[in-house]
Amino acid sequence: MTERVYNFSPGPAMLPEAVLRHAQEELLALPALGMSVLEISHRSEAFDEILATAEARLRGLLSIPDDYHVLFLQGGSRLQFSMVPMNALGGRTADYVVTGSWGKKAVEEARREGDVNVAWDGGESNYDRLPTAEQLQLTDEAAFVHFTSNETIQGVQFRAEPETGDVPLICDASSDFLSRPIDVSRYSLLYACAQKNVGPAGVTVVIMGNDAVEACPSNLPGMLNYRNHVEAKSCYNTPPVFSVYLVNLVAQWLLDQGGLAAIEQRNEQKAAQLYSVIDASDGFYGGHAQPDCRSLMNVTFCLPNEDLQTAFLAAAQQHQLYELKGHRSVGGIRASIYNAMPVAGVKALAEFMDDFANRHG
Ligand code: PMP
Repeated sequence: MTERVYNFSPGPAMLPEAVLRHAQEELLALPALGMSVLEISHRSEAFDEILATAEARLRGLLSIPDDYHVLFLQGGSRLQFSMVPMNALGGRTADYVVTGSWGKKAVEEARREGDVNVAWDGGESNYDRLPTAEQLQLTDEAAFVHFTSNETIQGVQFRAEPETGDVPLICDASSDFLSRPIDVSRYSLLYACAQKNVGPAGVTVVIMGNDAVEACPSNLPGMLNYRNHVEAKSCYNTPPVFSVYLVNLVAQWLLDQGGLAAIEQRNEQKAAQLYSVIDASDGFYGGHAQPDCRSLMNVTFCLPNEDLQTAFLAAAQQHQLYELKGHRSVGGIRASIYNAMPVAGVKALAEFMDDFANRHG
């Protein structure tokens, strides 16, 4: 049996071990079906049930209101950067709040579709903070406000939705979806690629209200129109069957953990362990994000110099702590600690960091 290490990858990221074992057990044949989930038709009863169960579990976890639709799409969150403005701009302007690299990319794509106002951009301080309500330069009558709840690269996270009045909110929730309860009714649409907190790569969850569906124009290419996916219940074309199957298992795992309030509490404790090592290190570790907007999912920090950073990464691997190198645009270290990262993994990293600082600080 191959030994598993603690994998701090930003995504595709760790999946719960129980989920992997379950999938392994069922890989040759689904119970009572005699066929693998990899081999069944997306029009089969068995897949219908998987899809319906996955949706029901997500509805339960997030208390999704009845007038909201849950879609399982392909193309990753990057395709959502285009689909959102294609479907929701309606010839108007949209406000984008840019708190990191992904928000910036979302703006680039939206600009291909129409008029975009950048309501705030944190680029001046290398995306280490969030805007205050007063700093947001919102447009009158904007079609929507788009924000990124957690910037995966910089490690800054909104604790609550930005204050934007009555304008419909659209959120890229890719890297903190299902990490805490949210009030779905506050959103017109939210989307999350699965490969961080929800499952494997290949599927993107979109949750959208009826109003947003009704606003979709009819002249879009079929695959890019949300309405088609709503009407076809995520089977407009062949959905990523195996990815949806795994999302269903992850959703059950989350319910088994006690739901999102329990997961949020655990995530807060996990992140606090790492941030307290950073804060107690007398500046040996420099946190990238300002303390009041630190991400519970991606903990970003640097060491005093490149040599120490290289030594840190090599020594971490000796302790079974992998995939800690930061993104090149921020440098340093990034520990991604999504739902599936066990408390023990975070504890092992915190102890390693403490020890490394004591030896080299
Ligand atoms: N938005 C955020 C916040 C992300 O973290 C990512 C992936 N790292 C994306 C968008 C892009 O997702 P995908 O690769 O699935 O298109």
